[in-house]
Amino acid sequence: MAKVSEIYGSMVFNEHTMQERLPSATYKSLRKTIEEGQPLDREVANVVAHAMKEWAIEKGATHFTHWFQPLSGITSEKHDSFIDPCPDGRAIMSFSGKELIQGEPDASSFPSGGLRATFEARGYTAWDPTSFAFIKDEVLCIPTAFCSYTGEALDKKTPLLRSMSAIDEQAKRVLALFGEAPARVTTTVGSEQEYFLISEKDYAKRQDLIMCGRTLFGYPPCKGQELEEHYFGAIRPSVNEFMKELDDELWKIGVSAKTKHNEVAPAQHELAPIFTNSNRAIDENLLTMEKMRLLASHHGLVCLQHEKPFEGINGSGKHNNWSISAGKTNLLDPGETPMDNLRFLVFLTGVIQAVDDYQELLRMSVASAGNDHRLGANEAPPAIISIFLGDELGAIVDALIDGHAYTSADKVAMDLGVAVLPNFLKDNTDRNRTSPFAFTGNKFEFRMPGSAVNLSDCNMILNTAMAKSLKGFADAMEGKAGEEFEAAAIAYVKETLVEHQRIIFNGNGYSDEWPAEAERRGLANHRTTADALPCLVAPESVALFEEFGVLSEPEVRSRYEVKLEKYNKLVNIEARTMKRMVRRAYLPAINAYAAKVAGHITAVKAASAGADTGQQERLLEKLLAGVREIDAQLQVLDAAHHANIEMADQQRRANDNAHHILPIMDKLRVAVDAVEVVVDRDHWPVPTYNDMLFYV
Ligand code: ADP
Ligand code: MG
Repeated sequence: MAKVSEIYGSMVFNEHTMQERLPSATYKSLRKTIEEGQPLDREVANVVAHAMKEWAIEKGATHFTHWFQPLSGITSEKHDSFIDPCPDGRAIMSFSGKELIQGEPDASSFPSGGLRATFEARGYTAWDPTSFAFIKDEVLCIPTAFCSYTGEALDKKTPLLRSMSAIDEQAKRVLALFGEAPARVTTTVGSEQEYFLISEKDYAKRQDLIMCGRTLFGYPPCKGQELEEHYFGAIRPSVNEFMKELDDELWKIGVSAKTKHNEVAPAQHELAPIFTNSNRAIDENLLTMEKMRLLASHHGLVCLQHEKPFEGINGSGKHNNWSISAGKTNLLDPGETPMDNLRFLVFLTGVIQAVDDYQELLRMSVASAGNDHRLGANEAPPAIISIFLGDELGAIVDALIDGHAYTSADKVAMDLGVAVLPNFLKDNTDRNRTSPFAFTGNKFEFRMPGSAVNLSDCNMILNTAMAKSLKGFADAMEGKAGEEFEAAAIAYVKETLVEHQRIIFNGNGYSDEWPAEAERRGLANHRTTADALPCLVAPESVALFEEFGVLSEPEVRSRYEVKLEKYNKLVNIEARTMKRMVRRAYLPAINAYAAKVAGHITAVKAASAGADTGQQERLLEKLLAGVREIDAQLQVLDAAHHANIEMADQQRRANDNAHHILPIMDKLRVAVDAVEVVVDRDHWPVPTYNDMLFYV
């Protein structure tokens, strides 16, 4: 096998390749574009395109594609070959600067949430030079933003890039007050991707997994995760082979897959990369998800990326580790000197303010039909946003709020004047896994996102809300310097912490007391997607996005429409799949088995009139009662489902899905599952949880 150092990034048109392949003037001009966001000159684009094409062809590529992230969240690509036929019947391979910079996919089949009704149907893709081009499956993939002809963003990347510019601008203003002038401030993300692997054979027999990505039925397995033997346990050989191939393939396209291990639930695993700038990190995560799905089939496996494929078993999340960096300086790292500490406190306070003020938007950003089953279900934080700071930092913040002296872990009292802020976080202890937004030493970990989500939305919101906090600070401080600035900054920090302390919670987020306590504090608790989505179009949300040029009002509205529609469509598919499985698989199987038991009773009685058939009769009665209950719930679902699809108003329909349809679906499931445990295994039409989770 090739050495990792040889394959790593071999399929990426990265910094190294650019330097090697581009004339130095072109390289410099491209770097300027990447670093300072300057527009790319057409001549430069032509040179870059040519070099990229030559490189790609050497690597075996025949096609190119503008790779983008429409509002559906998954990535899209349309392959064009490099072929340019000549009059003499031969063909040359060509690729121009224009083709590199801009593409024109037909936008009409991508969700636009109403933007298309008001604007032109066509859209265009524009190269995002801050994310490297790469080759996958003989296709040169060019990461792009996707917009309508009038400039409305039709994708997830564009607002993310805009939010990164917003934070760059505001953070630089704040840093200037500290006498620092970095070339660029950027946000960083490291996403931990959880997923399940099950056997392809089992998957093929489950309509619910195929259609919905999750099991709509299934009695709990004999053992779940209570023995905690799977977490970090030895990895199954087939899974190990899969993980090895996955690492190799990801490394080739420059995805820095770093850590892999078994997760808590049986058949659940995790992959974490090394963090990088948010934009690239999200591209990498999407590539990782795609490779996982594709490569699993090489090993007879299927990769499930749904947030809750199995009820009663931990679901899958995607922790979003987030920080802000100025060159090599991590701005959420407490640092060594008193001034570093003050700067850290300013940024920390900014995060606390941002997360408190825009808690509903953050919650909204991870809302989906799938994640609704996971949040608050014992393995994931509840739907309430709060921040965990840990003992040491929590004590410092408390001291700032109360204005008392701070006593460190080793009980040395310290004055909280800026000059003597302790160098405090050497020994940080984040073991509170129940917090949705936890400080973990030099970054925050947002644990609400589900495994299937595109992280652009939550990062776009986090960045924009943070830009707003930083702007508030800069507006208040500009013009102050030296000791006056220090005193004013400390006062600002204290005041802001007092105002936002309700969002800080260091206790157990899974406890029953927390939702009640959170309600007393006035924190939002939107349990379902239907409840969470409306805040996206609330006036204060629109105002935030508009203030920082991240989304215009029509862009906000379109996103709301798309999310709402997607939710309704998914629940509709689930309801339909459920009904079909009950009618065409479960009821026929249960009835057949009941007939068999009845036949058995008759046969035994015929052979021996006095025989005791008590057990068989009780079983038969259970089966018949089960069929009656299933049928009753099916009728209820059927009627409710028909009424639901008639509803024209999408929000009303979503509310009905969340609070009416899904609870009925739960009841139908319970009715079927109750019969599953008494039916002969060979008569049950689908693989059970035992089969799927404990394969060899
Ligand atoms: P845990 O499992 O304890 O949550 P891991 O070490 O598995 O932690 O994952 C932490 C993730 O955070 C990794 O992807 C890592 O690269 C990322 N990370 C570390 N530092 C930063 C940072 N400054 N900004 C963003 N992500 C970071
Ligand atoms: Mg984590």
